[in-house]
Amino acid sequence: MSEQPTTNRIINVSNRLPVRIDSGRFVKSSGGLVSALEGIQKSGGGDFDLQWIGWPGGAAEENEQGNLSERLKSEFGYHPIFLSEEEIADFYHGFSNSSLWPLLHYNQTYFNYQHRWWKAYERINACFADAVCDAAKQGDLVWVHDYHLMLLPKMLRERRPDLRIGFFLHTPFPSYEIFRCHPKRQELLEGLLGADLVGFHTFGYLRHFRSAVLRLTGSESDVYTIRHDDAETHIDVFPIGMNWSGFEQELGSERFNECKQRFLTDYANKRIVLNVERLDYSKGIPQKLEAIEKYLEFNPDRRDDVVFILIAVPSREDVGEYATLKENIELAVSRINGQYATISNIPVHFINRGVKIEELCALYAISDVAMVTPLVDGMNLVAKEYIACQEDHGGVLILSEFAGAAKELFNAVMVNPYDIDGMAWAVGEALDMDDQHKRELMEPMRRLVIDNDSKWWARRFIASLVRSTGDATRDEVKRMDDQALKPFAASPKKKALFLDYDGTLRGFTLDPAKATPQPRLIEILEKLSEREDLDIYVVSGRKADFLQKHLGRFNFTLVGEHGYTFTKPGQEPELLNGDADLEWMPTVREVFDLYAASTPGSHVEQKRSALVWHYRAADPEFGQWKAIELIGHLKEAIANVPAAIAHGKKIVEVSSQQINKGMAVERFIHEHDYDAVLCIGDDQTDETMHRHRKMGAVTIKVGPGTTDAEYRLTGPDQVHDMLDVIAQLKPGTTV
Ligand code: UDP
Repeated sequence: MSEQPTTNRIINVSNRLPVRIDSGRFVKSSGGLVSALEGIQKSGGGDFDLQWIGWPGGAAEENEQGNLSERLKSEFGYHPIFLSEEEIADFYHGFSNSSLWPLLHYNQTYFNYQHRWWKAYERINACFADAVCDAAKQGDLVWVHDYHLMLLPKMLRERRPDLRIGFFLHTPFPSYEIFRCHPKRQELLEGLLGADLVGFHTFGYLRHFRSAVLRLTGSESDVYTIRHDDAETHIDVFPIGMNWSGFEQELGSERFNECKQRFLTDYANKRIVLNVERLDYSKGIPQKLEAIEKYLEFNPDRRDDVVFILIAVPSREDVGEYATLKENIELAVSRINGQYATISNIPVHFINRGVKIEELCALYAISDVAMVTPLVDGMNLVAKEYIACQEDHGGVLILSEFAGAAKELFNAVMVNPYDIDGMAWAVGEALDMDDQHKRELMEPMRRLVIDNDSKWWARRFIASLVRSTGDATRDEVKRMDDQALKPFAASPKKKALFLDYDGTLRGFTLDPAKATPQPRLIEILEKLSEREDLDIYVVSGRKADFLQKHLGRFNFTLVGEHGYTFTKPGQEPELLNGDADLEWMPTVREVFDLYAASTPGSHVEQKRSALVWHYRAADPEFGQWKAIELIGHLKEAIANVPAAIAHGKKIVEVSSQQINKGMAVERFIHEHDYDAVLCIGDDQTDETMHRHRKMGAVTIKVGPGTTDAEYRLTGPDQVHDMLDVIAQLKPGTTV
C-alpha cells in the first residue's frame, strides 16, 4: 500500500453518474454529491483533480455505448459503466434495492434474495473495478460510495495495492442481528475491509459495522481501527451535510422570491406543516399520516387553518413493495381528507411527484413546521435543508430519533415515529410554540448546518483518507528483503530455520484443531526438506502430538509447548527442561475452569507445561472482556510463582517462566555450529526467539505489532512465498 498518495487525483465511484441520458441528450443533475465534491477540486479551491465513474442510468444499446462513452468523457470527464436491462433488474432493482436496502434499513419483511442477483452484483462490482483500474494512475485516491459497490474496495485492493481506497456508506448500518441474516454477509464485509477508510454518518452505524465485522470475520479491532489479514481499515464518522452553496444561491434568486410570494398569498391565514420525502417505506409515511389523523381528531378548532403538505417523490416504482406503499398512502390521505376537510380547508395536500428547486426552497422558507419522521434514515437531508432555509428562524423541526440527523440537530422536537400519540402531540407543540423560543432553537442549528455543509463533509473525508495509512505493518521494522535470504542459498554449510506454526505457517481458524497444513504449505515444506544443508525446526505452542500428527512426515525437529518438548526426526519426544516447577498448575486450572464455564464458546487446553484458555469461538466482545477480567484474577491467584501470563490472539496462556522458545532456539544453536539462522513468528512468545538477532540471526515478525525482529512480513501468504524462495536458492543465485 502506498505511503502517501502520490498524485493529487481522486477517482470518485458511485453507482450513478450525476447525468442521465434523455433521448440521446445528457441532462446533468446537480445532486448533493456533485456540490460536495466541488469543495475538494482545484476548480472549487481544493487540491484535487476529480474523475467520476458510474452508471448514466437507463439501458444503452451496445452499438451506442462507444459514442456515448466518448461524449461523456470529453464533455464531463465521466467514465460510464453501462448496464443492460437484465443487469438493471438483477444488480440494481434486485440485489441493491430489494436485498441490501431493506436489510440496511432494518426491514427483514421486505428483504429478498436471489442467487442470480448476487452473481450480477459481483459481476457489476468487477466491471467498476476494471474501470477504476483503467482510469487510476499509481497512488491515486479512490472514493467509493454506497451499498451498490460494497465488493469494490476488496477487488481494487487485490488488483491495485498502490491505490488508497475510501468507502462511504450513505445508508445506516444495522445491528449485527439484522445484518447477519444476509446470505452473503461475510463477502459483503470482507469487500468493505479492502478499503483503507470506511466512513459512516453516525457513531451508531460505525459501532454496528464494527460489531458485525468482529463477529463475522474474526478480525480484531479497537474503536477506530479494524485489523484483518495483513492490513488495517480505519473506521470513522463523517455526517454528510446539505448543499449550502446551491441552496444559498437559490435563496438569493428572483424565481425563489416570486415563488415564496405566491405561496404566501396561496396559503394566507394557514399554518403549514411540510413533509418532503421519497416515497419509501423507510420514511414512515403511513405512521405520519396516522399521527396527522390523530392531531386533527383531537384538535377540531385547527381543521380550518392547518395544511399538511405532503410531497412524496416517486421512487423505485419497479420494486413491488413501493407500489403497495403508494396505494396505502393514497387510501390514508383520502380517508383523512374525507373525514376532516372543511369548506375552507383540505388538511392533507398530497403531491406525488418532485417539485422544482425554487418551489422546494420557498416551501422550506415559509412552512411553520417540517415533519421529518422516518422509521430509519441514514442522515436525512430534508431536515438540514429546511433548517438552512429558515433565514428568519421562525420554523420548528419535528425530527425522528431514528434519522441520522438526530445526532446533530439537537434543538429539534424529537419524536419516536412508532409513537403515534407522541407525534400528534409534537405537531401541537410545534404549532403552538412562541416565536422567541422558536428562534432560540433554530438559530444555533442553522449555524451548525451551514458551517458543516456538504463541502466540509467531503473535505473531512478526503483529509482523513489521505492520513489513513491502511497498513498496520508500516513502522521502523524493515519489510522483508530477499537479499537477507542470501545466506540460506544451498551450500555444504549447515543452516537453521526456526519457524513458528500458528499465525506464521498457518492462518488462524475458529477451531484450532482445524488449522492443519494446507496443500501449498505442504508442497513448500517438502521442497525445503529436500535441502540437506537446512535444519528445520517448527517451534510452536502446540502440543507434541498435534505437531507429530501433521508435520511428523518431514525430517524436522518439532518443538512443542513453547520449548518444553522437542521431537527430533524419527525419535521419541524429549523435555527441554524436566526440572521446571509446575506446582502452580492446579490453581490456574481451577480459575480457567471457572471462566470456561461462564464464557460460552471458550474452553481450556491443558498442556504439560502450560494452560491455555481459548476464546476464539466466544462472542468477541464478551470474550475480550472476560479475558481482561481473567488476567486480573490470575495476577492475584499466582503472584510470586515462576509462571508467566500472556494475552495472545484470542487466548490467555499461563506457562512456565523456566521455558520459552528463545531458550529452545539457543540450545539447538549451541548443539550445532550453524552458518546462518532464521527465526520467524507472529506473536509475543516468538519475541524470545528474536533476541537472537543480536547474534546475527535473520529475525522476522509476521503481521502487525511491536517487535524486536529486524524484518516484517504481513501474513502466512508472504511467509509461504519467502520459504518457497529459500527452497529454491541455489548457490550463487541472485535473489
Ligand atoms: N428533493 C428533490 N426534489 C423534491 C423533493 C426533495 O430533489 O421534489 C431532494 C431534497 O432536496 C433532498 C433529497 O431529495 O436533498 C432527499 O434526501 P434525503 O437525505 O432527505 O433522503 P433520501 O432520498 O436520500 O433517502
